[in-house]
Amino acid sequence: MHLQLSKTGHRLSGHSGIVELMDDLGAALAGAGVADMRMLGGGNPAHVPEVQAVWRERLQAILEDTDYCDRMLANYDGPAGNPRFRESFAGALREIYGWDVGPENIAVTNGGQTAFFFLFTLLAGEMPDAGFRKVLLPLVPEYIGYSDQGVSEGIFQSYHPRIDQLDDHTFKYRIDFDALEVTDSTAAICVSRPTNPTGNVLTDDEVAHLAALAAEREIPLIIDNAYGEPFPAAVFEPIEPVWNRGMVMTFSLSKLGLPGTRTGIVLADEEIASRLRTMTGIVGLANNNIGQALVEPMLRSGQLLQLSREVIRPYYQAKSADAQRMVAEHFGNDFPYLVHRSEGAFFLWLWFPELPIATRELYARLKKRGVLIVPGEYFFFGQDNADDWPHSRQCIRLTFSQPEGVVNSGIQIIADELRKLHG
Ligand code: PLP
Repeated sequence: MHLQLSKTGHRLSGHSGIVELMDDLGAALAGAGVADMRMLGGGNPAHVPEVQAVWRERLQAILEDTDYCDRMLANYDGPAGNPRFRESFAGALREIYGWDVGPENIAVTNGGQTAFFFLFTLLAGEMPDAGFRKVLLPLVPEYIGYSDQGVSEGIFQSYHPRIDQLDDHTFKYRIDFDALEVTDSTAAICVSRPTNPTGNVLTDDEVAHLAALAAEREIPLIIDNAYGEPFPAAVFEPIEPVWNRGMVMTFSLSKLGLPGTRTGIVLADEEIASRLRTMTGIVGLANNNIGQALVEPMLRSGQLLQLSREVIRPYYQAKSADAQRMVAEHFGNDFPYLVHRSEGAFFLWLWFPELPIATRELYARLKKRGVLIVPGEYFFFGQDNADDWPHSRQCIRLTFSQPEGVVNSGIQIIADELRKLHG
């Protein structure tokens, strides 16, 4: 049989940088010496003992409540999500931030990733008037998971940041507002905050500026809070999140330690929330409701906020500080390097301005030595021409959510390899 693929089928099942990388990581882990592989690559949340204990307790409580348990397992929810969960989620946002939101503003999806597929498909690509609209990413490096999304190809327009060197070994990306061009063909503006892969947290001023640009064109500003406020609150800078009807906020239960429940939550105006509900119905009938059932009472009691602020945030902040200390210790002054200021999420983003090889090759060398990192090239996408910015081949992402010994020996091996490369 010669399988005939539709154009969309071709695109969504063909080559994908991130799938290739994930396959490669999977294969590396399945190979010999797996026990010695230092996994500084993925975005998995840490298994924080105190947090995992809460999820086990919640599961136990559900098991003991026969009625609740049967409803969770044996009923489809409506496609917008569980009504009680939506009310409680909106209630938590009203309580924490004073935002004027209700359940009609909430659409649950099967994970944040699916929320983005729906949002990009809804807004970008071919338009009824034969025009083509793109999602503007004001700053790359940006989350690789967006890059192959959407039904149409080429739906991103991205911009390089300005680089602020803060001290000898620290830098921070800032949006280059002079470069951004928001036009009639801009479908939406989108940012992750904190950003995967850099741990950057856009300032409140940068967000306000983006919101104003979006409002001027009457297009949504989409903010991805997968690591952010208010849950799981892996944000190490004080920020004051703002929402208004022109903005779309996405949240996820994954980084709270529940990626297996596939629960994404979108806060948007009534029209967008309602359209996402329809998309869920068409694509998947309903959502996984286990994550919603686990956290719903904790939204009402405030326990989820407390867990995020008092356990999860300090946990990742301490892991970040440890990893930075290890980098300083092992790298010394033997070769030029800078670390992006760690303001949130689970990653350090390292820049080697004089690296003699591309980071894809550095990745391959490190894999042979039992260390998995993610080469930075993957996070630069949405440029009209192939991205020829040297900076995009000089950065790596490493995850600090692994146990201390693993992170430490991983960083030690990275330092050793870099020393050799810089000769
Ligand atoms: N957004 C960002 C920035 C992420 O890093 C991730 C996952 O790593 C997601 C969204 C999607 O997560 P999920 O589909 O598990 O909610």
